[in-house]
Amino acid sequence: MKCGLVAADGAVLHRETRPTPRTVPDRNDGGRAVLDALLETVVELGQKAAADGHTVRAVGVVVPGIIDAEHGTVSAENLLWVGTPVLAELQAAVGPGRQVVLAHDVRGGGYAELRQGALKGTTNSLFLPLGTGIAAAMVVDGSLVSGDGYAGELGHTRFVHGQAAELCACGQYGCLETVASAAALARRYGVRTGRVVDGAREVLELLAEGDADAAIVWEEALAALVDALVLYTTLVAPTRIAIGGGLVGAGETLLAPLRAGLHERLTFQREPEIVAAVLGEDAGCLGAALMAWDRVTLDESGEQGG
Ligand SMILES: [Zn+2]
Repeated sequence: MKCGLVAADGAVLHRETRPTPRTVPDRNDGGRAVLDALLETVVELGQKAAADGHTVRAVGVVVPGIIDAEHGTVSAENLLWVGTPVLAELQAAVGPGRQVVLAHDVRGGGYAELRQGALKGTTNSLFLPLGTGIAAAMVVDGSLVSGDGYAGELGHTRFVHGQAAELCACGQYGCLETVASAAALARRYGVRTGRVVDGAREVLELLAEGDADAAIVWEEALAALVDALVLYTTLVAPTRIAIGGGLVGAGETLLAPLRAGLHERLTFQREPEIVAAVLGEDAGCLGAALMAWDRVTLDESGEQGG
């Protein structure tokens, strides 16, 4: 897990990465080990801040999965959390008088891109990281859409039909994530060829070398992504789309065909720019802190307003 101390102006004062405890599904502790590591991290960072002469005003935490904003609970399959009361546990750990903000990791990343990165200055835009999974952070009319914690699951919408549709981890068939995530590229190449590859990175290397199977897997991913971007553009008219996650390491190999595919398909819709996200793996961590500072600002303005 990535964590840090961030000043009110968004400057990062300290950053560190800590190991996330491995979850073992057949020794299910309800994700307790992960939650305990998170709580310990928050407490220890608070102690570090105090030792360095800073005052922690608020804590921002972003996690994967479905965050029920109303109840502060999280369900995240890979952390073994099912309706886990993460917000209440965090609040108990940091004590009274400090705000705790809990959000989805992709929305955290999208918020950082909006405030300081590739989406800065936009009021309608999309942050779409293509990593192990796919989820979206949607900026609509100047606000990050959360849908009470449930919004942005573009990765779990069907873009592959018929026999080719594979079962997704979410239980549906043919999801964007099953064909266009970094994990899907490696898995699909492996299934096609019987070769085990070292992630999407190796598939991209094979693609660059002219490997025909890599090209097919890549084209299928691009086709589903173009479909997804056409849908998103038609529904909410972004002016800019920032692609992030591991796959954006492919650079123009990814971005140029997405632009061309979208340009070819759109007729009446406003055509968005397609760019690479700029904040990389730190985006979620930074976004969590920026959201926490927003809460402080909101509370202060509320108090001043009576
Ligand atoms: Zn799915």
